[in-house]
Amino acid sequence: MIPLYNFQPEKVKDLSEIEKIFRSHDPAMAEARKKGQDIIYYLIDPEKNDAPPAVDCNSYYYSLWVLKGVNENPLLTRTVNYHRDILEGLIMDEKLDGEDIESYARSMGLSPDFDPVRELFYLPVDQFVSCNSRLSGSRYRLSYQLFREGKVILNRETLAKIMREFFVIRSIRAVHDISEESALQILQDIDYIDSLKELYRVVGSRGVLDLGSVDFKIFPPCMNEYISQMRDGVNLPHMARFTMVSFLNKVGMTRDDIIALFKTAPDFNERMTTYQVDHVTGNISGTEYSPPKCSVLQSNHLCYKGDDRLCNQEWLKHPLQYYSIKKRDMIRQGGVQTSSKR
Ligand code: SF4
Repeated sequence: MIPLYNFQPEKVKDLSEIEKIFRSHDPAMAEARKKGQDIIYYLIDPEKNDAPPAVDCNSYYYSLWVLKGVNENPLLTRTVNYHRDILEGLIMDEKLDGEDIESYARSMGLSPDFDPVRELFYLPVDQFVSCNSRLSGSRYRLSYQLFREGKVILNRETLAKIMREFFVIRSIRAVHDISEESALQILQDIDYIDSLKELYRVVGSRGVLDLGSVDFKIFPPCMNEYISQMRDGVNLPHMARFTMVSFLNKVGMTRDDIIALFKTAPDFNERMTTYQVDHVTGNISGTEYSPPKCSVLQSNHLCYKGDDRLCNQEWLKHPLQYYSIKKRDMIRQGGVQTSSKR
């Protein structure tokens, strides 16, 4: 068993490693496969499935590949975030010393230097800023940091937060980078992917969202990702929240439904949310804002297009354009529902 803090993103895409996990008769690999499968069932429906197994790197790599086949971004995010929280707990375990944490961070692809005298870590600035936007709170902003020789000085807790966000970014990117061809090759003998898809469709998102007449199923990947992250307790960056509210308003969701959607966030603050929604939708500002263009979201690391066919068209410039094209296709196919504000 390889503990989760030995996670190496490159291994997710290493076909020879993945072949071993999927095909080996070694009992350890069979156990990893069983755990990887069990954790997905658990995360789809925690009420009906057994307590989650103790995960490790191999079971995690296995889960990520299976989820590539299932192709449901919210479920992928839920799985990654579940492992993220376990990883953070492991890093904070006091049995690990600073050198251990430095070497685990290095195996993931970060390069902190540990100072045993001061018990602090020095992390390159670019690595810090590639992760800190996913963390809310002024203490994670660059302007709040102290520096030494061009590196950010971090205590163990802050480094653990950066490591966990790095883990999320690299995990999701690795899954999106898996080619269709490799996925078909590796997953050809996995016979339960269709049943996972069906279970997720029926059970996985039940009771969480009631979007009325708004067509949630044709939202662009970025919107699905924000909604999924919010439900999973990630503190969304300001621009993601703004994009969500303005998008939902433009596609016809009512003010009250938008606020109700934000209630699914663990850190929901009604007064603040109501103010933000009323501001973006023009109720108090007098200006009804539009969501940013794809290029703006991309430059802020808030685009999650992965291999989505429509998002990868050169002419696709805006999340609302995505929605209206999908909507038009639905109308053509006779499956239209009418979006309207009450
Ligand atoms: S390409 Fe545009 S619509 Fe698609 S995920 Fe990225 S930002 Fe969203």
